[in-house]
Amino acid sequence: MNHNTSHTEHDKALIFEIKGNSLDDGPGIRTVVFFKGCPLSCLWCHNPESKKSLPEISFDPEKCVGCDSCLAVCPRRALDRTNPMLVDRTRCTVCMECTQVCPGTALSPVGRYLSIAEVMAEIEKDLPFYQTSGGGVTLSGGEPTLFMGFASQLLTMIKERGIHTLLETCGFFDYSRFMELLYPHLDAIYYDIKLFDPGEHKRFCGVSSETILENFAKLIAACARDNREILPRIPLVPGITATRENLGSIARFLKGLNVQKVALLPYNPLWLSKLPMLGQPRQTGLSEEWMTGPEIEECRRIFSDFSIV
Ligand code: SF4
Ligand code: SF4
Repeated sequence: MNHNTSHTEHDKALIFEIKGNSLDDGPGIRTVVFFKGCPLSCLWCHNPESKKSLPEISFDPEKCVGCDSCLAVCPRRALDRTNPMLVDRTRCTVCMECTQVCPGTALSPVGRYLSIAEVMAEIEKDLPFYQTSGGGVTLSGGEPTLFMGFASQLLTMIKERGIHTLLETCGFFDYSRFMELLYPHLDAIYYDIKLFDPGEHKRFCGVSSETILENFAKLIAACARDNREILPRIPLVPGITATRENLGSIARFLKGLNVQKVALLPYNPLWLSKLPMLGQPRQTGLSEEWMTGPEIEECRRIFSDFSIV
């Protein structure tokens, strides 16, 4: 398991976005801090820009005005406007020179190493909104637990200001370290469970589900003891996670832990359009369609059969 114990862990963390005024990642109006890097490699990751633990550049051809400023500054001759993706990533060293001269945001950096003070400055801009809406700060990703030391310090400072804290996690972390460094500073945890079967989880997400399920079982007991919110979330991916067999296994597992509430996250094909911007082929073999209402309802019914809503 990668704990990312480099010197950057405490001083700075790799973050690809800090999004204010979010209504999607917890109660009220929130600021969401998206960490970059993940120990899983889910085939359908809705934030593909969050997967690599290194900065990247993205290119959006629709925003390019054809000024050629980028070509003039690239020290590696990695840019070619006859290339639909513009950037030859085998040559690019991610020096970011081109992103600084691009007049729009056609070329833009994905991921910056930020200090606690820099992240706190962004968070504090929205203080009045947290107070009036019952909102707060959500750490998301990627996987925030890759940056345990940094996240621990950040959460401590957020709690000192009386702000509600929430962590979104894939569950693949060292449990003792999590309990020591992060848990004491969290008001709520959103915990993703994708595939129950260890082999299927390894096949589609790169690691077995065993650690994730074990951590969840321990964490739900701790949260029940401490009266802390924990919400399991299941991404619905047609043909992979959204199968009767997988959802039934997860529902049975949750029922055994006395879980009564779950969040189902219906598949969103918009993530596919992000892939070419990162220099990756759009064709993944996964669905290009939104899930229909009846398909989502069928998944929901599998959980309601176990009295989980
Ligand atoms: S990031 Fe640097 S090396 Fe890569 S394309 Fe831009 S200027 Fe060239
Ligand atoms: S600098 Fe930006 S807008 Fe100009 S050619 Fe390069 S990518 Fe396009």
